[in-house]
Amino acid sequence: MEKARILIIGGGIGGLTSAIALRRRGFQVEIVEKDPTWSVYGVGIIQQSNVVRAMAELDVLDSYLHAGFGFDHVEIFMANGKLIARVPSPKLIEGYPANVGISRLALHKVLGDKAVEAGAQIRLGVVATEFDDDGAGVDVRFSDGSQGRYDLVIGADGVYSSTRAMILPDAATPEFVGQSVWRYNFQRLPDLDCLRATEGSVGVGLVPLADDLMYMYVTTPEPGNPRYPRKGRAAAMRAKLADAPPALRELAAQITEDDEVVYKPLEWIFLEGDWHKGRIALIGDAVHTTTPHLGQGAGMAIEDSLVLAEELARADTPQEAFRAFRARRFERCRFIVEQSKAICESQLGRRPPVDQAKAVRGMFEVTSQPI
Ligand SMILES: Cc1cc2nc3c(=O)[nH]c(=O)nc-3n(C[C@H](O)[C@H](O)[C@H](O)COP(=O)(O)OP(=O)(O)OC[C@H]3O[C@@H](n4cnc5c(N)ncnc54)[C@H](O)[C@@H]3O)c2cc1C
Repeated sequence: MEKARILIIGGGIGGLTSAIALRRRGFQVEIVEKDPTWSVYGVGIIQQSNVVRAMAELDVLDSYLHAGFGFDHVEIFMANGKLIARVPSPKLIEGYPANVGISRLALHKVLGDKAVEAGAQIRLGVVATEFDDDGAGVDVRFSDGSQGRYDLVIGADGVYSSTRAMILPDAATPEFVGQSVWRYNFQRLPDLDCLRATEGSVGVGLVPLADDLMYMYVTTPEPGNPRYPRKGRAAAMRAKLADAPPALRELAAQITEDDEVVYKPLEWIFLEGDWHKGRIALIGDAVHTTTPHLGQGAGMAIEDSLVLAEELARADTPQEAFRAFRARRFERCRFIVEQSKAICESQLGRRPPVDQAKAVRGMFEVTSQPI
């Protein structure tokens, strides 16, 4: 398997970290990315110590931390704005932060630059339209009329994965959970030195992303999954914050640009069955999309990349590697998906309240374990 030629479908977080991890082990890597502009939306993401550890293994830790904002605590507030806990987060690498807030644009640049530097070939505006796996390799046809033969294919094409639909047509599809997230960037408040999460049926978080940048997320119940046209989204987001504590309402007044509001209905998916077929495997959101309540979706995709590269380097056949990969990842990813959904459902009043601080401690206990 040493010189295997690998096609990665999707140049997002999992696709890029896979490309870096596979190149570090000497595999030949080509990525096809659907989006011709290869863009990501401009708000941020929260990552924890298991991602800091993974970034060290990918040899991007310094550029990653330089592009983000490290912090070691999470502050939890009641719906009335009263601080109830400042919970320390465990570090996995001494001298480095336990959590990182980073803009998605900055993360994309760090990972994209490293994948290119490592020698991955990237084609933009291209999708795979047909796979022919003859047992010895996979012939792939692409939307630009080209074709290629690969030793194996990795589908890292996210929650709406067309690779999943092509190789596992009977697999589960994404399910809306009844809640959505509204996000918006601001100038960082000078005293915001960690994630500030305000509990309630409308949850609000403030996340530092850089010295001069933070973002706000607002989780709201959205029965029936209504559509919010782009025009008017700023006013709609402000309205969701009408009952928030005064400090958050003050910030809400700055939400004025419809185009800068990022609105996303939350979905989940977890494949109980196989995560591969023949020489084609799935990673990241394509197999386990979680709601963001524990901030671990991207973390799971990044860990997947490291584990799959390790198993491919060790195994004699792709199937052996894919089975070992799923065995190592299954329970950890399921834990994240289920615990995140439990928090979501408790916020929606569908199950008894979940103690958020306890849930976060449980998440750290699990994700601190070796991958
Ligand atoms: C509201 C919200 C907040 C979140 N917050 C956090 C957080 O704070 N922390 C965290 O860790 N995670 C968070 N996540 C989850 C995180 O964004 C995902 O888990 C992560 O992006 C998954 O990576 P991926 O590579 O599997 O998929 P993606 O990052 O979605 O990448 C998929 C890529 O594939 C491309 N693509 C799609 N179809 C095709 C195709 N047919 N051919 C070629 N390319 C294709 C896409 O354009 C994209 O570039 C959040 C998710 C949401 C919805």
